[in-house]
Amino acid sequence: MTTFNILITDGLDESGLSILRSSANVADRNNISADDLIKEIPAYEGLIVRGRTKVTAAVMDAATKLKVIGRAGVGVDNIDLEAAKKHGITVVNAPISTTLAVAELAFGLMLAVAREIPRADAGMKQGKWPKKELEGVELNGKTLGVIGFGRIGAEVGKRATAFGMNVVAYDPLIEADEIKRRGAEPLPLDELYGCADFITLHLPLSVQTRDMIGAQAFSQMKDGVRIVSAARGGIIDEAALVTALNSGKVAGAALDVFATEPPGLTESVSHPRLIGTPHVGAQTAEAQVRASEDIAAEVLTGLRGEALRWKVA
Ligand code: NAD
Repeated sequence: MTTFNILITDGLDESGLSILRSSANVADRNNISADDLIKEIPAYEGLIVRGRTKVTAAVMDAATKLKVIGRAGVGVDNIDLEAAKKHGITVVNAPISTTLAVAELAFGLMLAVAREIPRADAGMKQGKWPKKELEGVELNGKTLGVIGFGRIGAEVGKRATAFGMNVVAYDPLIEADEIKRRGAEPLPLDELYGCADFITLHLPLSVQTRDMIGAQAFSQMKDGVRIVSAARGGIIDEAALVTALNSGKVAGAALDVFATEPPGLTESVSHPRLIGTPHVGAQTAEAQVRASEDIAAEVLTGLRGEALRWKVA
């Protein structure tokens, strides 16, 4: 039986590593540099990354034996899919492993922004009792606009319905009837902007969606809208968001993802009405185990040339 050589560059939970070790030689090179990756990749048939490693055309040009790239999670914007296609390299991901973790974080961010929970805690930690400054809003009775009504968006929608919210959704790639079946009212984007009290983003970053939530989009939204994003940095134009927060157009925002990560202390991160988390959407014990097991099995399946569940390219 062939023994495959698999390189892991962003860490992987032990549960997936043990699946891989049963039929492959595994090199765990967490935090490998871009230059070292190009030097070492010719020895491997399989590569497993999370979001940190950029699998560029240069990496694939050097990867003479590489057959399968696995993304332990969902977003594949760090992998050059065109280059993969050109080199005949299969790209797979683990799309369902992190759905609930991200949906729960997005919901937590929505509650945090509605009630300013981080500011309340920060005040307490300074020995203060900032009760009078902290009048929030309720989710009950409000309209939630979900942009991108796929796996995560629909799970957020379910939770919002349970909280008494009216859920509307924009997703150009899902039929209106299917959006209804998933529990939301389908709306064109401008109508969603016009009626949503809260907006949550669950769409991929692409050429079409980069800076999609910018000055023009904010101008169409309700005054005092609150915005959550646990999708991808770059979909929200952060400079335009700061302007909208300063003018009061946007009452509050909570972001798990940033155009540059880590962003440092930018104007958006330091804004008093912006809550930031360091891209922790998928960071739950359960999701890490699921992502690790799913991607390990899928990469081995790909290397054996068997039928794949989650082929991206
Ligand atoms: P999914 O593919 O199930 O859903 C994404 C939806 O976005 C699809 O239904 C698609 O039709 C829709 N879409 C595409 N272009 C759109 C557009 N221009 N406008 C509106 N909708 C559009 O993916 P998912 O599993 O629900 O993940 C959603 C996103 O969450 C991923 O793309 C990823 O960027 C992000 N994510 C973030 C984290 C995190 O740690 N914060 C973790 C996992 C995934």
